[in-house]
Amino acid sequence: MTNLTTENLITTKLAEGSNPDSIKEATLILKNKGLVAFPTETVYGLGGDALDNEAAARIYTAKGRPSDNPLIVHIADTKAVYELASEVPKKAKMLMEAFWPGPLTIILPKKNIVPDGTTGGLDTVAIRMPSHPVALELIRESGLYIAAPSANTSGRPSPTLASHVMEDMNGRIEMILDGGAVGIGIESTIVDITGDVPVILRPGFITKSMLEEIIGEVTIDPALIEPDPNLRPKAPGMKYTHYAPKGELSIVEGATSNVVAKINELVSERIDAGFNAAVITTLENADRFDCENILVAGDRAQGETIAAKLYQVLRQCDELNVDYIFSEAFNDGELGGAIMNRLLKAAGHRVIKV
Ligand code: AMP
Ligand code: MG
Repeated sequence: MTNLTTENLITTKLAEGSNPDSIKEATLILKNKGLVAFPTETVYGLGGDALDNEAAARIYTAKGRPSDNPLIVHIADTKAVYELASEVPKKAKMLMEAFWPGPLTIILPKKNIVPDGTTGGLDTVAIRMPSHPVALELIRESGLYIAAPSANTSGRPSPTLASHVMEDMNGRIEMILDGGAVGIGIESTIVDITGDVPVILRPGFITKSMLEEIIGEVTIDPALIEPDPNLRPKAPGMKYTHYAPKGELSIVEGATSNVVAKINELVSERIDAGFNAAVITTLENADRFDCENILVAGDRAQGETIAAKLYQVLRQCDELNVDYIFSEAFNDGELGGAIMNRLLKAAGHRVIKV
């Protein structure tokens, strides 16, 4: 397999994910320590052999990811959990039964076969069984456990289309399996089950109340709630500024009419000063803004539509090359917490309350 250096780029093949021949080719690449991006129901993943340090190292290089940020291991059969984890508590089994295959990652104590390269030196391993048919087929066909972080370069929004993966990974990985637009659009919920009370390390589509219905009390890592330099998130990746567009993003929060007035005022100020600007809004409010670049994230009444489009809209801000971006807040509904976790990070926690 070709070594990855910036001078020695490799050819990235884009292939149809539902084609069995493409899956076979992807399998061969993975078995040779190569990298294949593939769709999951949350975002596109950047896959490599999870039990091979060299493949794991290539994932970090391709993403430009800090090496202390561990990878999630993707499996297609619950039996795999017992190969990878040294202990599987009852609550973990209950969650596996309730939510797998699906957008839930479970942290368990690791067995020695999981290399430090995959877990960033931690003695725990993050495991998930995705529900996307292409992901399941690739794992089954390869017979491997597949380490797969989101297939973006570190710091950029996670990819929700194969074209996003191509933007970030062209020349750095061997293959991309195209499965169209993903369904959920934000990364899996991560729950740490190694302590007495399970802890959510990253919010996602599976909410706290959905988890509590199955296993009783669940807490949220306090470092996720307010940015506090004294609190260290338990998921190493959560401390990094993610998803940030190149322009300066601010969230404007408050009663809708105040938000609309404030954003219109800020846009007009920036335009007068010679800059360009974009507004991130919803179907409900889109025609209330006076701005050349209106990006509709989704339907406020249906949070899942906003989750599905959020990263795409953040990437569009880069394509439009805007200097300033103003977004409404999307706190409503069950998914509000998970959406705002990403949007606040993208905005570097810059919030204007009106
Ligand atoms: P991504 O692969 O881009 O979805 O990011 C994976 C997330 O899972 C990062 O925030 C990691 O820090 C987190 N993670 C992976 N393994 C562990 C682990 N063993 N303990 C805590 N967090 C983990
Ligand atoms: Mg990621």
